[in-house]
Amino acid sequence: MKAFGYLFSGMLMLLGIVFCVAAGATGIWQRWFLGGILLGSGIALVYFLRMKTPETRVSVTHQVDLTGDISLERLSCANCGATLEKDSVSVKAGAVFVSCPYCETEYQMEEAPKW
Ligand SMILES: [Zn+2]
Repeated sequence: MKAFGYLFSGMLMLLGIVFCVAAGATGIWQRWFLGGILLGSGIALVYFLRMKTPETRVSVTHQVDLTGDISLERLSCANCGATLEKDSVSVKAGAVFVSCPYCETEYQMEEAPKW
């Protein structure tokens, strides 16, 4: 549904640009007007779709967090103490595994309790 919205707004903007280009080429002022409306509504639609994006992002990050309450911001390697990126943490069979890119150690992480 959102992809369709972006496609539609893209088409509106493209059509608006086409009308504006045609207006510049032919000098028919009505086309400037129509092109402006199309372009404006296309931009407004993108803006409207962008406004709703953070809501979806929150639900996505929430699904990731369900695998374990690990604060990735403060995550560091237990072996060498290097700060770990999100990419170095993987979930295998329900357990959280950490593979350090610096010392190349791989170990299972114990999930910290919520309280
Ligand atoms: Zn390490």
